[in-house]
Amino acid sequence: MKIQERTATPDDVMDGAEPVQTTAPVRYLALAGNPNCGKTTLFNALTGLRHRVGNYAGVTVERREGRVVGTEQSVLDLPGTYSLAARSPDEVISRDVLLGRFPPAPEMVLVVVDASNLERNLYLASQVMDLGLPVALCLNMVDVAERVGLTVDVALLQRELGVPVLPMVARKGQGLSELKAFLRTPPPAAPARQWELPEPMGRETQALADLLIREKLCPTPSAWFVALGILSHAGANADSLADHAAVRPALDAALRRLEAADIDPHSAPVEERYAWIQQVVDRATHQGEIPVTWTDRVDAVATHKVLGFVVFFALMALMFQAIFTWAQIPMGWVEQGQTTLSDWVSGRLPEGEFRSLIIDGVIAGVGGVVIFMPQIMFLFFFLGLLEDTGYMARAAFVMDRLMSKVGLHGKSFIPLLSSFACAIPGI
Ligand code: GDP
Ligand code: MG
Repeated sequence: MKIQERTATPDDVMDGAEPVQTTAPVRYLALAGNPNCGKTTLFNALTGLRHRVGNYAGVTVERREGRVVGTEQSVLDLPGTYSLAARSPDEVISRDVLLGRFPPAPEMVLVVVDASNLERNLYLASQVMDLGLPVALCLNMVDVAERVGLTVDVALLQRELGVPVLPMVARKGQGLSELKAFLRTPPPAAPARQWELPEPMGRETQALADLLIREKLCPTPSAWFVALGILSHAGANADSLADHAAVRPALDAALRRLEAADIDPHSAPVEERYAWIQQVVDRATHQGEIPVTWTDRVDAVATHKVLGFVVFFALMALMFQAIFTWAQIPMGWVEQGQTTLSDWVSGRLPEGEFRSLIIDGVIAGVGGVVIFMPQIMFLFFFLGLLEDTGYMARAAFVMDRLMSKVGLHGKSFIPLLSSFACAIPGI
């Protein structure tokens, strides 16, 4: 990926928006992101592995907090989630931490996104951006994006989203010093919302937010997000605020009006959010030609309709050859060693039961097991090799076509194969 702009300062994106409120760097920040976007990698890089792991009160969700090396700033690694819709304990925790319901509230959120999967990752980011907190985007895995031919225009993305964007490769520590420098500056202002709800729902959300503020049920910055959450999740996992005496009647009336207007309060925000994200991604990224990697070339053969079988049977023949022919050589050595040892012992011990115990019991007994060692070593060597090179998955794919004809999964060729030596797995 081409990185058009290495570092972002709050001023780059905040021109025209609200003025920066704080003049000191934040003391407490949270890392949010989808599962597997590299959040923990970044967390470890920032904290140098010095952190505390605990649980959130009353739930088994892990809470990991640490100090940014060389600073007084604390970082909280939130559970990985795809959204803040509160469908799972992880989502509830992430949402409630960010809403300050587990004080202290983070002063800024770093949303980590996987650059090669921007559209999906920006969904959570856009929700976090509605919380009324300062937000910066860690555009992680730019190396992966580059590998799949994706170019992200960082400056443009930053302008479209209205938050600072910091490209990085967390695993290699690239972009980390830029992030640390960014953390030493005062936080940007909370982003302004760039997407719109369908008109009647926008109105209802704002009215409910105003009510929450008036009733002092929610701090002003996050009121809009909380109101939207209450409106769109009136069913199962509702915010407990939905049942507040001051909220319930207004909420019910709003839901009736939305129904009359033929708006689904659950899906409308999701659709609008994705529509906006799609637009941002279309503008800020460019999908170039997907480079053909050597993995693709190998796969073209290894998973080919005909060649795939040839490769598979060739490899299996090689494995059989190794286990049942080549292994004979070291097996001979073991046998030789056993005989030599037996002869040596019989020359030294007098004829009798004790000699028989040593030779026929110990030496022959242990030898009877050790003799199979070469075969087992060859087998496990090959299995390890096939698994770690990723060939096993290809083989299962190739065999799936054949095995599915008899109602079996492609992977079942392995136990069938091993039944050459022992029938139990095959059965
Ligand atoms: P989390 O689930 O968000 O906490 O993700 P992790 O930090 O556990 O990372 C998931 C995987 O992605 C790990 O194998 C990391 O080594 C890898 N990873 C993290 N950052 C990068 C990156 O920038 N580039 C690449 N290629 N891999 C990364
Ligand atoms: Mg993690």
